[in-house]
Amino acid sequence: MKSWIQSANAPDCEFSPRNLPYGVFSDDDHRPRCGVAIGDMVVDLARLEAAGVVKCTDRPVFDAPALNAFMALGRTEWARTRARLIDLLTDGGDAALSSNAALRREALRPMNSVRTHMPIEVAGYTDFYASKNHAVNVGTLFRGPENALPPNWLSIPIGYNGRASTVVVSGTPFRRPLGQMKPADADLPIFGPCRRLDFELEMGAIIGTSTEMGTHLSVAQAEELVFGYVLLNDWSARDIQAWEYQPLGPFQAKVFATTISPWIVTQAALDPFRVSTPPRERPLLPYLHENGPMLYDIDLEVALAPAGGGETIVSRTNYREMYYSSAQQIAHHAIGGCRMETGDLIGSGTISGSVAGSQGSLLELTKGGRSPIDLAGGVQRSFIEDGDTITLRGRAKGDGYLVGFGACMGTVLPAPESPR
Ligand code: CA
Repeated sequence: MKSWIQSANAPDCEFSPRNLPYGVFSDDDHRPRCGVAIGDMVVDLARLEAAGVVKCTDRPVFDAPALNAFMALGRTEWARTRARLIDLLTDGGDAALSSNAALRREALRPMNSVRTHMPIEVAGYTDFYASKNHAVNVGTLFRGPENALPPNWLSIPIGYNGRASTVVVSGTPFRRPLGQMKPADADLPIFGPCRRLDFELEMGAIIGTSTEMGTHLSVAQAEELVFGYVLLNDWSARDIQAWEYQPLGPFQAKVFATTISPWIVTQAALDPFRVSTPPRERPLLPYLHENGPMLYDIDLEVALAPAGGGETIVSRTNYREMYYSSAQQIAHHAIGGCRMETGDLIGSGTISGSVAGSQGSLLELTKGGRSPIDLAGGVQRSFIEDGDTITLRGRAKGDGYLVGFGACMGTVLPAPESPR
């Protein structure tokens, strides 16, 4: 499949004609609207809709600062629109755009001239804990090896309800959080800037269609709700987390920022890269059974760049390392009657491999800060310092093409002054 937008055909292009991820962008007019990334261009879907070249329903859905209205239309419309975009953007298809110079000028924007925004209005944010390597590594550091994996872990996709209000798009800086923590050698807690700030490498599944409160879903039905996936950095304050997390889980340690990549890669684009979850170490209850492969083979990496310095890749892993799929997590989420909503963001949980350098957090990579990692230029890190930029990247590799996610990047600013 080749596009007449030549940059999309390069074998190392993340936005190949088979990808077509959706996002929200603005240019000089500062009007955020929906678009599709292809090659080094963004296709203005609002413009194509206004020209009648793309049409979903009786009313426009793309001239909006979020994809929620389009997502809510459901799978049939997602498939129809994707087919239409492939027809318009590939060689030998409908020439309504490729042969119309005026429309091409208006609707095709160079990627480097636009600003990307949050692609969705986040309805709710739930974060899971679904990589066994990560759960064992973190559990060992927090509770010792004999209590590393909680007794429920092999039966339940464990999660907690996070905050939608502080989910931000790649490129949004944020301040180091303040909070309460208790140093190991102290009797009482102290207050101040987090000292053990970390990243978490995750994928985020985005719910496209809502369910009714009180209904439950099979794993297959749960998967049908998913519009697509983004990269997700679940920034974590480890010292605040260690002091607060029992008995109800993370609270302040995770709510100050969650960064997602700007382009939503659809489930349809990821379909050729499906892989199965690993063998079950304990049989799952029937409501969590998968009827097919529901993970994806996506290479992932994390880069750390100090202020003014070059970046170092500090972790490489793959999404297929997970024990539970997003579909299983969503089925579990809904089983008690919880309503799933258009715009819900479902964090996979930190993705960690089993070999050195494949862990999805500094907590694991530095063994709780005891073994700092070496960066380019002779710099070392145990945890994130002010001015550091963390960038997540993800790519599924096809035969001669890529389905990539673009960067999920964030820079940490100094903490605000403490309140008196
Ligand atoms: Ca997390």
